[in-house]
Parts: sequence; C-alpha cells; structure tokens
Amino acid sequence: FYRPLDKISAVIETYPRGIAGFRSYLELLATAPDVTDRPGARDAGPLRGEVRFEGVTFGYAPGRPVLRGLDLTIEAGRTVALVGPSGAGKTTLCSLLPRFYDVEAGRITIDGIDIQDMTLASLRGAIGIVQQDVFLFAGSLRDNIGYGRLGASEAEIAAAARRARLDEVIAALPEGLDTLIGERGVKLSGGQKQRLAIARIFLKNPPILILDEATSALDTVTEGEIQQALGELAEGRTTLVIAHRLATIRNADRIIVVGEAGILEQGSHAGLLAAGGAYRRLHAAQFGASAAE
Ligand code: ATP
Repeated sequence: FYRPLDKISAVIETYPRGIAGFRSYLELLATAPDVTDRPGARDAGPLRGEVRFEGVTFGYAPGRPVLRGLDLTIEAGRTVALVGPSGAGKTTLCSLLPRFYDVEAGRITIDGIDIQDMTLASLRGAIGIVQQDVFLFAGSLRDNIGYGRLGASEAEIAAAARRARLDEVIAALPEGLDTLIGERGVKLSGGQKQRLAIARIFLKNPPILILDEATSALDTVTEGEIQQALGELAEGRTTLVIAHRLATIRNADRIIVVGEAGILEQGSHAGLLAAGGAYRRLHAAQFGASAAE
C-alpha cells in the first residue's frame, strides 16, 4: 500500500538534479512508478558520454511499437540531429535516455554501461535537457538558475548566467539576481526562459545534452543569441537535437532521419541531399525545393 508513496518521494528527490522541463512534473509522476532503481544499481560516476542504443524496441501501448530494434551509436562529444515527420518518434527516442520510460527490448548504454544498471539520480545527473517548456518556480532568479546544481556558489551562478547570455537581462533589472519571478515577480519572455534553462545546464555541466528545439517563433536577434549559447553549451558534450531548423541541422556532425518505427537514413547534410532519399524529400517539403540544392 505504501509503495507508490515511496516512489513519489524518490522522484521528488531526483527531480531537482536536473530534469527541469522536458516533461511536466505531473506527467513524470504518472509514469515514474514503473521506472525505479534496479536492485544493485550503481552510481554512474564521471561519464564521457558515448551513447549507444542496441536493438531498442519501445511503444506506449502493447503491440504498437514506436521504435523497433533501433541501433544507434553517438560518439562522446558529437552532435546528432534527429529529423523526421511529426510523430515519427524523435521525442520518444530522447525520452528513453533519461529513463522517462524503460525499453521493452534491447538496451541503452552510456560508456558501455547499461543505463538500467545506474542509479536514476546519477543517470539523470549526467543529462541536461533544454526544451521549450521551461520549469520555473516562484523565487529569485538566483534560485531558479541555481536549481541547475544545488549548492552552486554565487560566482558560479553569475558565470553560468553570462555564458547563457542572461547577464544583460539581469543587469537591466533593479534587483538583479534577487529579482523575484513567477506570480508575484517579473514575467520572463520566451527567450529569457530559454536562456535561464541554458544557464542551469552550464551550472550542471553534464556530459550529455538533449535539445528539443523550439518550434514557436522568437525574434531573429533572440533566436540568434540563443542558437549561439546553445552551440557553446553543446561543445564537448554528446548532444541529441530534436531538430526543426535548418541551421542546427547543418551544424550537426550527423543527421538521423527517423521514420516509422526506426531510422530511415543517416549521414551528413550534403551526403543525405545527394542520396536523394527521405531526407531530401523532407528537406524539400520543409524548406522548399530550391533550398535543397
Ligand atoms: P514531433 O516532431 O511532433 O515532436 P516526434 O517525432 O517527436 O514528433 P513522438 O512525440 O516521439 O514523435 O511520438 C511518436 C508516437 O508516439 C506518436 O504516434 C505519438 O502519438 C506517440 N506518443 C508520444 N508520446 C506518447 C505518450 N506519452 N503516450 C502515448 N503515446 C505517445
């Protein structure tokens, strides 16, 4: 009878270590009971971040796999862009890595260690996630940035804010880092929230990054600044980008085209265009046939 409560408290403990955003808290609570530390799970320790999906099958409903026998290796420090039609499974693939769901068959490893043999806290501590929906709580800007790594010093918080291009925003506020945000404080714009999410991850400094690109429009200047901050954030980290934009796709080391139940194609932007397959069609549909040349 008490078990579900145990699990909820385990989630509350691990959540602040950095799954800010990716899925709503309630959604996480709703799915968390299935995903727990295995008996004997070990702290992952420092990781380089080589990610490997080996024959991964997963679906939300029995008999309806979203991913079927998927194999994928991402070398430590590399960036891959996931593209494909809506509903192809890009988000699903990314949500298996922090174990928001467990695979049905196959396994996922980081540096050769099965993620199910790591404690959830250490696994999720190794992954930073930036997405459109940024988790904010009522409190100061300092507290909201510091949520990236509890116990970070004032200097570390300021440095993270600078790297995320949030320093000018903070300087323009009369109370700086002490400014309250949320219902009784200032309301942050979409671009400012993105920068806050980036600052948190600079603080957390994980070897692996998941970027769920914003689909809603930001103004061009903001967009450019955020792209630049994200580029710096991705440097030296294994990065999976759920890509919607041409710029990010071109900068990736590898593009992976996800289609029904798996990977259709992978390669460089130029290579995939030349191959004239799914990527070229997707690209033409998204950006116009002329952009494909
Ligand atoms: P988009 O580009 O629209 O974000 P995607 O490629 O990321 O799409 P997913 O969100 O991974 O695709 O969805 C893959 C399939 O799984 C879809 O059929 C979707 O309806 C289904 N799906 C996604 N999340 C859930 C969920 N929490 N419960 C049940 N089905 C889901």
